[in-house]
Amino acid sequence: MSDTVTRWAQIRSAIAQAARDVERDPDSVALIAVSKTMPAEAILPVLEAGQRLFGENYVQEAKAKWPALKARFPDAQVHMIGPLQSNKAREAVELFDAIHSLDRESLARELSREIARSGRAPTLYVQVNTGDEPQKGGVSPAEIDGFLESCRVHHGLTIEGLMCIPPAADPPSPHFALLAKIAARHGLRGLSMGMSADYEAAIQLGATHVRVGSAIFGARG
Ligand SMILES: *Cc1c(COP(=O)(O)O)cnc(C)c1O
Repeated sequence: MSDTVTRWAQIRSAIAQAARDVERDPDSVALIAVSKTMPAEAILPVLEAGQRLFGENYVQEAKAKWPALKARFPDAQVHMIGPLQSNKAREAVELFDAIHSLDRESLARELSREIARSGRAPTLYVQVNTGDEPQKGGVSPAEIDGFLESCRVHHGLTIEGLMCIPPAADPPSPHFALLAKIAARHGLRGLSMGMSADYEAAIQLGATHVRVGSAIFGARG
């Protein structure tokens, strides 16, 4: 087995263990293998080992890598987890099975238009800027209720869940707990939270999707 596949298998067991520790069904936590910046050769062994769900951050990169990989593994799914420019909405709707970074009106408007035009409907998550960091994407917790309402009422979008990236300097658990609280208040099932350093804490607090990159593929160059 390649080192990558060994690490992938270890992460899968750790996820299952973290779920069982809090009496959750291990199958209720999906692993998104974050393959951004990784070439197709690095991704293939993980696909061959059985991983089917991947995360990418850049539209152009995903467009270059995934059509060929999906031709070989038609049931592979790719989720967009990085910031998305409104002018890339068309390509994003064509390429991705889910988008985790919906965070503003202009993007909601463009996604709604492209979903209607193409007939394709990626699963949508709204990103919440739980730490209110100015440089980070996501809707402020103070504005999330209004934004979710607007997605539904003005843009006709179905929102599956919420996503967050806690501030690097903070303990992550309070951010995960806040995201879970907002989701519960809105009856949203999906919680995309937890990365290589903190996916176990996220699972304790209800993550349905953990996004793990470097712990599987190694450090990005
Ligand atoms: C890169 C990235 C990840 C994966 O980060 P690791 O620390 O390598 O696991 C997860 N989520 C988002 C939004 C990312 O940009």
